[in-house]
Amino acid sequence: MHELSLVCSICDLINKKVIEYGVNKVVQVRIIAGELAGIEDLTMKSCFEMLTQATPAEGAELVIERVPIKVRCRLCGNEYETGIPFSKCDVCANECIEIIQGNELYIDSIAVE
Ligand SMILES: [Zn+2]
Repeated sequence: MHELSLVCSICDLINKKVIEYGVNKVVQVRIIAGELAGIEDLTMKSCFEMLTQATPAEGAELVIERVPIKVRCRLCGNEYETGIPFSKCDVCANECIEIIQGNELYIDSIAVE
């Protein structure tokens, strides 16, 4: 499961921060996830719940903020949001499209008490 290893590394990072800052309780973890990162919210949340048991992050809310896919046409420079990463440019119909947004996956913030 893709999400499990992801949540594992997220929890590792949280645990490091918890020790670094002497935090007693984590209340919310906010993640930025591009549409192309291929993660499923429900799976992420259940993995998070499982892996944070008996840690300061137990019971913390996992917020997943989605970032839409954005591409740029290499020919005319047109930038636009799309649901399909390998579509044709909607201005010049060129197929040389590069993805400039949608692959991100990182922790945005950790809220503590
Ligand atoms: Zn174009």
